Amino acid sequence: MSFAEYSEEIREGDVAIVYLSHESLMAVTVRHGAQTQTRYGAIRHSDDLIGKRYGAKVTCSKGGWVYVLHPTPELWTMALPHRTQILYATDIATITLMLELKPGSVVCESGTGSGSLSHAILRTIAPTGHLYTVEFHQQRAQKAQEEFKEHRVDHLVTVGNRDVCKDGFGVTGVADAIFLDIPSPWDAVPHAKTALKCSGGRVGSFSPCVEQVQRTCEALSRHGFHELNTLEVVLRVHEVRTVSLPLPDFGPDVLSPEVPLPPAFHHAAATLKTTTPPREMPAHTGSSVFGYKEDDHLQTTEGLCGSS
Ligand code: SAH
Repeated sequence: MSFAEYSEEIREGDVAIVYLSHESLMAVTVRHGAQTQTRYGAIRHSDDLIGKRYGAKVTCSKGGWVYVLHPTPELWTMALPHRTQILYATDIATITLMLELKPGSVVCESGTGSGSLSHAILRTIAPTGHLYTVEFHQQRAQKAQEEFKEHRVDHLVTVGNRDVCKDGFGVTGVADAIFLDIPSPWDAVPHAKTALKCSGGRVGSFSPCVEQVQRTCEALSRHGFHELNTLEVVLRVHEVRTVSLPLPDFGPDVLSPEVPLPPAFHHAAATLKTTTPPREMPAHTGSSVFGYKEDDHLQTTEGLCGSS
């Protein structure tokens, strides 16, 4: 099992996702002899998990059942232990797209936080890319490192425990993309520029408040980033309802009274399925600003990146 690949069979040491419902799922480290309690009863790892296929339905000791799923970054985001605020799938999808991440991309990120975004980046850049993630909180950096190892993606990531605003990402001229999710991203913009490859790199930054976005945009344009775009992505879940609509009554057919009316017209109403958007939704998470690094080729001497 690895968060960056798929495997068929559940094995000792895997992290499996026990799925009770969309609102209730948990990550379980599979161990011989261990048990996991759910509201449907216990799951015995040796009998119920090891050797079974991912995706299987497992009956718990009280007779209810759960699905046991292969871990993915999306499921991990829903199940992970929160040590910080985290980014969710809607924002993560936009970030992955706007930073043009793909297998082989080199990415710098700060802060690591709870590793929600990091896992999605790692799955996208595998098997040949690399993530440099910087977190100044020592325990969070260490915990993230442990999780990457347990999830077998540690060969794709370097965790740095430092203040990105003071000490940067620890790499120069290599990154295809940078992502910032810290309270003062504008202070990290010069370091983002240093870490990015010579030309064409992407930068992104997520902030909950528009004042932070404004300061970040100012810093980005001061440092020569261009085509700045700020996006807020809102997920609207429509409610599906069955409605009953009255059929119009056009009166008797005077032109051809001998032609019978279609059967539907004998009913006063028709039922059909429709959707309604929510009237109110607690949707705001924040805005992400994205930009491109200016082309440094013109400022380059002997093939090295320009430093201005
Ligand atoms: N994107 C992460 C959440 C990041 S929360 C996720 O999806 O899980 C913000 C993190 O940034 C916190 O853990 C905080 O400790 C860290 N942080 C804040 N300022 C920092 C700085 N200057 N340098 C490094 N890390 C920083």
